[in-house]
Amino acid sequence: MPRAEELLTLTPQGLYCPAGSFHIDPLRPVPRALVTHGHADHARPGHDHVLATPQTLDIMALRYGETHAQTTQSAAYGEAIRIGDVSVRFIPAGHVLGSAQIVIERGGLRLVVTGDYKRGEDPTCAAFECVPCDVFISEATFGLPVFRHPPIRDEIARLIASTQLFADRAHLVGAYALGKAQRMIALLRGEGYDRPIWLHGALEKLSDYYVAQGIELGPLRKVAAEDRARLAGEIVICPPSAMQDRWSRKFPDPIACFASGWMRVRARARQKGVELPLVVSDHADWDDLIATIRETGAGEVWLTHGEADALAHWCAGAGIAARPLNLLGYGEEEAQS
Ligand SMILES: [Zn+2]
Ligand SMILES: [Zn+2]
Repeated sequence: MPRAEELLTLTPQGLYCPAGSFHIDPLRPVPRALVTHGHADHARPGHDHVLATPQTLDIMALRYGETHAQTTQSAAYGEAIRIGDVSVRFIPAGHVLGSAQIVIERGGLRLVVTGDYKRGEDPTCAAFECVPCDVFISEATFGLPVFRHPPIRDEIARLIASTQLFADRAHLVGAYALGKAQRMIALLRGEGYDRPIWLHGALEKLSDYYVAQGIELGPLRKVAAEDRARLAGEIVICPPSAMQDRWSRKFPDPIACFASGWMRVRARARQKGVELPLVVSDHADWDDLIATIRETGAGEVWLTHGEADALAHWCAGAGIAARPLNLLGYGEEEAQS
């Protein structure tokens, strides 16, 4: 059997497969990139060739223009694709629309690179599928026992209840543009919220794309400048950065809400001036990270980014060899938001 290092190693550009001559989610332009999902910290423009799911390719084209790469190839979920000496497959990661784990195999050795992933409910993308493997290369964004995400429906119900209790105030929900915004909308619909949901202009393009892909988001309205004063009691979704903007001041007595796994840390919510923190994360929490590691049956775990040290310590205690890679440059999408 080949050694794991023959299938995956670290270079300054990020994770690299020598046997297939490709990088995964490279941080800088490379000849051949396999991209797990469309978030800006994983999907960057300027590669010669990109292999990704059709949705990830669409999202990259929406964000960077059709010329983000010289050539592209789409990978359907589950399709085995031969590259050099290895076989790769893209498997749903449950993170955002089109997100994938990448399975690399050769000679009976199987590695899985998760990219970002979650196991929680999300009506807007295919659910995470656990692939048994020898080496599991996982994110660890919330790899501390303090990060246990509460039931998602409770968080959504709190938001809806607040719009009823404070019907004279606009509810500004900060959510990043790819995935979180659409998931919040879909979860609100799932809890029976059927009023129009108002969108900051920066969220429109990707939300339209989700709808075009068949994701039901119900009635959506773009916020025009003159609308703001009359949106008391309504839900307005905006990029987190817009909550502190001049843009937000014209709403009637706005309540700053923020949908993020980081809202588990109350000090962080206070520091950001968030009045209604909503613990809604697109990353696995501590319990899901360790349950997933066990479920893969992997004898070895590499941790790409996040709270890698605590999770590596847990792995050691469970008799699993763990290696924190501490790759820099990932995690910005959620950290900023
Ligand atoms: Zn991501
Ligand atoms: Zn990320």
